[in-house]
Amino acid sequence: MRYSSIADAYERIEATTKRLEMTDYLVEILKETPTSLIDKVVYLTQGKLYPDFFGIEIGIAEKLAVRAVARAAGHREKDIEEDMQKTGDLGETTQKFMEKKTQSTFFSTPLTVQRVYETLDKTANSTGSGSVDMKLSMLAGLLSDASPSEAKYIVRTVTGSLRLGIADMTVLDALAVAFGGGKETREELERAYNISSDLGRVAKLVAEEGIERIKQFEVLPGEPIRPMLAERLSSSAEILEKLGGKCRAEYKYDGERIQAHKKNNDVILFSRRLENITDQYPDGVEYIQKHVMAKEAIVEAEAVAVDPQTGEMKPFQELMHRRRKYGIQEAMKEHPITLFMFEALYVDGKDLTLQPYPVRHEYLKKIIEKTDNVKVAESIIAENPEELEQFFEKTVDDGSEGIMCKSMNQDSVYQAGARGWLWIKYKRDYKSEITDTVDLVVVGAFYGRGKRAGTYGAYLLAAYNPDTDTFESVTKVGTGFTDADLEKLPKLLDSHKISHKHPRVDSTLEMDVWFEPKVVIEIRGADITLSPIHTCAMNIIREGSGVAIRFPRFTGKYRVDKSAEDATTTQELVEMYRGQLKKIDG
Ligand code: AMP
Repeated sequence: MRYSSIADAYERIEATTKRLEMTDYLVEILKETPTSLIDKVVYLTQGKLYPDFFGIEIGIAEKLAVRAVARAAGHREKDIEEDMQKTGDLGETTQKFMEKKTQSTFFSTPLTVQRVYETLDKTANSTGSGSVDMKLSMLAGLLSDASPSEAKYIVRTVTGSLRLGIADMTVLDALAVAFGGGKETREELERAYNISSDLGRVAKLVAEEGIERIKQFEVLPGEPIRPMLAERLSSSAEILEKLGGKCRAEYKYDGERIQAHKKNNDVILFSRRLENITDQYPDGVEYIQKHVMAKEAIVEAEAVAVDPQTGEMKPFQELMHRRRKYGIQEAMKEHPITLFMFEALYVDGKDLTLQPYPVRHEYLKKIIEKTDNVKVAESIIAENPEELEQFFEKTVDDGSEGIMCKSMNQDSVYQAGARGWLWIKYKRDYKSEITDTVDLVVVGAFYGRGKRAGTYGAYLLAAYNPDTDTFESVTKVGTGFTDADLEKLPKLLDSHKISHKHPRVDSTLEMDVWFEPKVVIEIRGADITLSPIHTCAMNIIREGSGVAIRFPRFTGKYRVDKSAEDATTTQELVEMYRGQLKKIDG
């Protein structure tokens, strides 16, 4: 197949703004393409060589492309660059210079699609020393044999500026007409695409084996499934009504979504945007290998950074340490993760994407072996707004963003690539940021794990309520302590250790150790939220809720100058909550 057929179609596509015409031109070109080449032509029309999840880009820098054009057109680089300043498009400049050239030379061998694809593929894959020269000569060679219009499109393709505006949906429309038997088959093709993320493969399959084969299309470990997304509502009652009176409500963890594909001992991890992020999570890979009890599986999880000492969840920014090439081992140590599993999409030969959620959830529970670092997302089945609301507040208090409410109806399939009402998110939409530090009283502690074994991992802190003369719990802190603090604080607290909760301490929590309210420390938190767990300001802002400080961190200051009764008061915290309340989006 000649590359000129494609270049001609590109010219026509570029000349129209109408999507329908664009689709017609695509249909023509697809019908003209030998079936063995369909996938490559589909990738090329989108300026690619492979589906995105392969992570292979043609990636030729503009400067290098200029050199190749100069060489092929027999001009100085400077001339090309100057003209490019005027046109603003290296493609157009290339066409111009190649036109000048063709007036004085003969055409060489016509370019075929295969040759263009293979050359670009070699360019994309050449790395290391000498690769720049190789790329240059391969590209110049291709351009020398190209017509001016072909050269324009080749240059745009290699520099990542093809931009014909052929969206995935346009290709699917064209495939339906060209090979599916009509527009109405688009839905089946779309589903195949949504569960494979590979337009080229879907195109080739429908061209070779027809639409019936597409109807049988199933998920395959190794091919990412486009993620299902949630709609949003802001009250428990509305959510339950929308979901038919009953739902499974899960923690909405604040981390990174990971789709894990397991094939025997091989594991690939994809991000929400379907990039291959396997290298960023060697620990995640190991957890999947060891604790997903299936030979083959596709599961989804939220990876959340946890404090290695206290096991507390940390804000998702901590995962940014994973976004790098080197130092992953250190990041793993300092910022370990827990995987909270929430979907099973494929298990040992069974595609579960069309099964209702309760069935998928059963599979998930069956194959996940629970450990400290691998868990099934915590959830409840809610049938009335009150229990849903309570669960919501509990999750927020635990540092989650809110809840995901999932349909349990017969039609609750996994809607790959779609945002729909089968999943509804209910997020904490108010938060109150604190800029000031607060001084809180240490009233209890949990024993530590890991590096903090033998000492305390986290401390329960309370504010003072002068009206009742009690200390009301407001947060648990495990962060911000240096090694020196870890020695000093337990010593300070030792003489105040008691065998039971102090009568003036108001808390619903079960602690390993209790203290007399004496030691005051300074804390900086990210924000104040409502909480059903902490007793500070209980029922003052909302019935059944107190306030809590989220993401607290010890500033390093022991307020030895303050007695427990001088600590920040309940009233102050209520004012802080109200005063800085602002609506946030998200
Ligand atoms: P959003 O990004 O706000 O639209 O919320 C959807 C995201 O929440 C998903 O893409 C997941 O990364 C994340 N998430 C956290 N917990 C869950 C859960 N239990 N079920 C589904 N998604 C979850």
